[in-house]
Amino acid sequence: MAAYHALERWHPERIGAMALYCSDGRWGEAFDEFCHRHLQIPRYDRWAVPGGPAWIAGPPDDPALLRTTRVQLDFLVRAHELERLVLLTHYGCAWYGDRLQLPPNECLPAQARRRSSSGGRSP
Ligand SMILES: [Zn+2]
Repeated sequence: MAAYHALERWHPERIGAMALYCSDGRWGEAFDEFCHRHLQIPRYDRWAVPGGPAWIAGPPDDPALLRTTRVQLDFLVRAHELERLVLLTHYGCAWYGDRLQLPPNECLPAQARRRSSSGGRSP
C-alpha cells in the first residue's frame, strides 16, 4: 500500500466547537464552507450522522439511541472542551423524508422544530 502524506498538518489547539450535520456527502463541502467562511470556525469537530440534528432534536422514538447520543456528546463536551455546537440540517434530507414519509418541502417544519422537553433550551 502506498503511503499518502496530507498537505495539511495536524493542529494541536482545540477550537471548542463542533458541527452536527447529516452524513450526506453531497453537502459536506457546503457545511465546511458555511462553518469556515460564515461562522469563522476552522478545524471544528465534526459529527456526521444521517439526519444530523435529528439525533438530538427529533422525537425520542428510541431511548437507547438518545442515551448513546447523550454519552457521546457529554464525552466530547468534556474531552474536546466544546463550548459551541452548530446544528446543520439541509433541504431534501433523506432521513426526514423516510421517517416522515413526506416530500422535502413538507419536512422543513420538522427539521426546523426544536425539542422543548428533556432539558432542551430555547433562546
Ligand atoms: Zn440528510
